[in-house]
Amino acid sequence: MTESTYRIAGATGDWEVVIGLEVHAQVTSQAKLFSGAATAFGAEPNTQVSLVDAAMPGMLPVPNRECIRQAVRTGMAINARINKWSRFDRKNYFYADLPQGYQISQLYHPLVGEGSLAIEADEKAGIAEEKVIGIERIHVEQDAGKLMHDQHPTRSYVDLNRSGVALMEIVSRPDMRSPAEAGAYLRKLRAILRYVGSCDGNMEEGSMRADVNVSVRKPGDEFGTRTETKNVNSVRFVMQAIEYEAQRQVDVLEGGGRIVQETRLFNPDTGTTRSMRSKEDAHDYRYFPDPDLLPLELDDTFLDACRASLPELPDAKRARYEGLGITEYNAAVLTAEVETARWFDALLEAGAKPQQASNWVSSELFGALNRLGKSIEDSPVAPAQAAELLALVADGTISGTISKQVFEIMLETGDAPGKIVEEKGLKQTSDTGTIEAVIAKVLADNGDKVEQYKGGKEALFGFFVGQTMKAMQGKANPQIVNELLKKALG
Ligand code: ADP
Ligand code: MG
Repeated sequence: MTESTYRIAGATGDWEVVIGLEVHAQVTSQAKLFSGAATAFGAEPNTQVSLVDAAMPGMLPVPNRECIRQAVRTGMAINARINKWSRFDRKNYFYADLPQGYQISQLYHPLVGEGSLAIEADEKAGIAEEKVIGIERIHVEQDAGKLMHDQHPTRSYVDLNRSGVALMEIVSRPDMRSPAEAGAYLRKLRAILRYVGSCDGNMEEGSMRADVNVSVRKPGDEFGTRTETKNVNSVRFVMQAIEYEAQRQVDVLEGGGRIVQETRLFNPDTGTTRSMRSKEDAHDYRYFPDPDLLPLELDDTFLDACRASLPELPDAKRARYEGLGITEYNAAVLTAEVETARWFDALLEAGAKPQQASNWVSSELFGALNRLGKSIEDSPVAPAQAAELLALVADGTISGTISKQVFEIMLETGDAPGKIVEEKGLKQTSDTGTIEAVIAKVLADNGDKVEQYKGGKEALFGFFVGQTMKAMQGKANPQIVNELLKKALG
């Protein structure tokens, strides 16, 4: 594996950046981790709070099987070891958004052990080849509530809707070496979560956020001291935070200072980070096993069912597409988002030819959706209709040029392509007699160009093809036009 060449130049030489990400992903589930309260986004404050979430004395947590199932499936999707025996611990701290005075989390025995994911080569981003990023663990924990400081001039309010919502904390190894690698890791992780269906990956709504651990070192040295920038909520911000923080650390070190292990905050308006508090160690939280909860024990039947329910994942799908003759580039584009992949699979299932279909989706369909400002799930043309359109091109009923016209009409009217072709008389003609007659006229009208062509200006051939197609309103079979023109021009 070639190492990244991303470096920060300093007066004392080049510095390497070391990055590890802790991603908090909200588990897709109707109910919270230990209560039956709802988890919908955007509800009125404190309308989705059970007595457990409000930490009323005497209330007992009951683990939500669906949350555990989703975390296990996620672990399987990153090829991780699933721990059949795991346990919940209390992480004790005081804050106004945490009525229990502790967060139920997992420190000593997490549900999911070591796994990994691969980020793809990206020449432009300086990622020379595919790179595997290690994942240390995934543990399951409760989210806290939310403080609202903007409701009243002198008071703060607390909204407990998020209190008790299930999170997966996905902890990477410090394997990333550039902002681009961190960005690629996050995008890939997000894609996997969305394929699996265990998290909607919506960073704007806070369903996925990252704590960004950054340190710098001279290449070959031991790891340096890291800082942790908390709760960064977009891929771009994560990359910005790394860039800023790495440069800041280099400046401190080159200035003869040292890095303090601390928690920092990212400011999206300025792209900078600032110190929030010195970093706690695990022992500061007085972790201990939660006495209200039994250890989680998973049996093989449950694990088998989790595995059997996994969909085809991005890497496997990409490899399969490439095996169908789809270009590497198109395969990457078609698998990057789960909705695109689903739509494309439906198109193939409807009988479309993979190569033709992949080119059409990534140019014509994406172009149209872009213009209409629609996402692929809301495409006005369904996969089955698209397959029919592509079949008309493949079997020579219409030309590629005409197919664009038909597609436009499909987008507007929702009509079937066969019907449009029939009604508008758009069928392509392969009738040699008709085409020959048109060619004869084109050549007669352009005698001077014919002379030039015969005199060696062969580039004019395209001009004759164009004129013939134009005269036939795009409805001539281009292959036959080519053949007949060659013959006519000698
Ligand atoms: P904590 O909860 O104290 O932040 P974790 O073990 O949960 O500790 O997370 C540590 C994170 O920091 C991991 O993502 C790990 O990869 C990353 N990390 C550890 N050491 C370094 C380092 N020297 N530089 C950058 N990242 C680091
Ligand atoms: Mg941390």
